[in-house]
Amino acid sequence: MSNSSNSNKKVKALRCRECNAEYEPMLKYICDECLGPLDVEYNLDSIKVSRNTFAYRAKNYWRYIELLPIEDARNIVSLDAGFTPLHRADNLADALGLKHLYIKNDSMNPTFSFKDRPAGVAVSKAKELRLNAVGCASTGNLASATAAHASKAKMPCYIFAPYNIEHAKIAQALSYGAEFIAVDGTYDDANRLAMQVAEHMNIGIVNVNLRPYYVEGSKTLAYEVLEQLSWNMPDHLIIPVASGAMLNAICKGLEEMRMLGLINNDDIDVRITAAQGKGCAPIVDAFKNNRDEIIPVENPSTIAKSLAIGDPGDGIYALRRLRQFNGYAEDPDDDEIVDAILMLARHEGIFTEPAGGVVIAALKRLVEQGKIDKDEHVVCYITGNGLKAIDAIDDRVKISRIVKPMVEEVLSIIPQQQPHI
Ligand SMILES: *Cc1c(COP(=O)(O)O)cnc(C)c1O
Ligand SMILES: [Zn+2]
Repeated sequence: MSNSSNSNKKVKALRCRECNAEYEPMLKYICDECLGPLDVEYNLDSIKVSRNTFAYRAKNYWRYIELLPIEDARNIVSLDAGFTPLHRADNLADALGLKHLYIKNDSMNPTFSFKDRPAGVAVSKAKELRLNAVGCASTGNLASATAAHASKAKMPCYIFAPYNIEHAKIAQALSYGAEFIAVDGTYDDANRLAMQVAEHMNIGIVNVNLRPYYVEGSKTLAYEVLEQLSWNMPDHLIIPVASGAMLNAICKGLEEMRMLGLINNDDIDVRITAAQGKGCAPIVDAFKNNRDEIIPVENPSTIAKSLAIGDPGDGIYALRRLRQFNGYAEDPDDDEIVDAILMLARHEGIFTEPAGGVVIAALKRLVEQGKIDKDEHVVCYITGNGLKAIDAIDDRVKISRIVKPMVEEVLSIIPQQQPHI
């Protein structure tokens, strides 16, 4: 049980999301009483922050250190991730008939996905808890995020991932020196394996036994968007979903900003849309069919491999959040995803992997269904870089011809340019 010894610390306790049982903030992630997941609870009363607190700090997510679960700043393992651009997407907005569209471009992180947020916090906590090794179960991006932070922390790193994830993601993770355990199975198989390893060895698996700390990193995606919009709440957030952890964490972040008085009480009526790829959309499916349970997808089949979790750990919580936040849910298919990747690249100069295509395709669907008003302020979370998954668009970006190095050949290809008047 937590006691007064934690009252001068930031983290008050780990609290069960289901039965409210309270635990010491250690390496623990499941409630002994009910097997529910544990969340970090802060001594919010003793956290003194205002909008100005953050304004002049380094441009990475550690600027929110008061709200991250690391007690001693010397344990921070940082690659300067976070504070990625909130890009005004006026060209794409025009094409869709919207007026205020923003891209939170989290593909611009050190390992090119948003996973640097949760992985960096979890590896830092592993250091604080004096663990000797870290690892993760990954659909692709977490592998590199964990491996890179482990390198910086000088810790060995063990990755569990399906063997058939994108080649670029495997090569990247291996480059950081991680041990890549390629599993002949789905993400859920890899995750189960990592869980069993966590039980037997003193390894911090960032999204398993360090999960309460891990998800805290993702909530900075909410803080940053608010800060970048001068603390004005947007009307609508569109979020890609795999396990549901990030969506849930963004909601937790919004609520904390309200509890701390950084945004007004009535400012929290934002709508949240969840986006998954058709072929692995268990959360979208439950939401659309008004079910309270998630029916796992046994064999995920979507080009959005980073979102391909058939049995999402935080699925029911993401579902509850969608209902709490007046949500929508969409599950675009592979063709829509590829179209959307190219649409974002060609209108805004931002090249995303299929997870980002899922988000833009969901946005497009909502506009077509009349579910987004043209005056709404909409934020799309783009969470991974296009170079991580070029196979997905291969068919659409072929070289059409090869020319001899002679100007006559090229003149016939390039249309005559009119002078600018
Ligand atoms: C992991 C991941 C997500 C979603 O993660 P959750 O498991 O729902 O937290 C979204 N986009 C990308 C690119 C990812 O790698
Ligand atoms: Zn419990």
